[in-house]
Amino acid sequence: MAGKNFKKLEEFKKKTQFNNTLGLDERDNVVLSLIQKNPGVSQEEIAKKIKLSQPSVGARIRKLKQKGILHNVWGVNFRVVDLNLAKVDVNATDTTAIINEFKDCPFFINALITSGKYNLCLFFTSTNLKRLEGIVNHHLRGNSKVKDIQMNIVISTAKDFVLPLNIDYDNERQINCEQNCKDCV
Ligand SMILES: [Zn+2]
Repeated sequence: MAGKNFKKLEEFKKKTQFNNTLGLDERDNVVLSLIQKNPGVSQEEIAKKIKLSQPSVGARIRKLKQKGILHNVWGVNFRVVDLNLAKVDVNATDTTAIINEFKDCPFFINALITSGKYNLCLFFTSTNLKRLEGIVNHHLRGNSKVKDIQMNIVISTAKDFVLPLNIDYDNERQINCEQNCKDCV
C-alpha cells in the first residue's frame, strides 16, 4: 500500500513540477511548494525537509527570486476589505490597446487575454458599485475597439484574492481618470 502511494506521489510530482526549461529541479519545486504553503517558513525548516544545508536553501530561494519564478505581490485581500470587484469580459478587436486604456486608471486591477468570444477579461475595484459602472461606461462603452461587454460583480472567492491596487498618488494622470470614471451612468 505504501509502495503504491509512493508511486502515485512520484507521478504527481512529475505532473505538477515546473519543467527543465526553467532550470528547476525537484528540490526547487519542493522549496516553492513549502514557501507557498507557508510564506513565513524558515530556511532551516526547508533545509531539514529537503536534506540540504541552510545556506544552499538560501541560494536556491535567491535564484528562484532572481529568475522571477518566486514572486510575491502585495495588495489588499478582497476577502477582507470592503471593496467591490467587477469582472468585465470584453470582445475586443485590439486587446493591447484596450489594456493600455487603463494604464492610469486607479480602479484597474488586472487583465487577462483569453481565448474564446470574450478575449479579454478585466478586473476593476471600487468602494462604490455605481463607480464600477462608470468605469465601464467611460473606458469601454462607445469604444470602437470593443464589440461586446459583459460585466459581473464578484460575489466571493474560494481563496484569498490579493488585489494589487493601481492607486499611485504621485501619478497626476490618475486624478483625471478618476474624474472621468465618475459615475457617468
Ligand atoms: Zn479610469
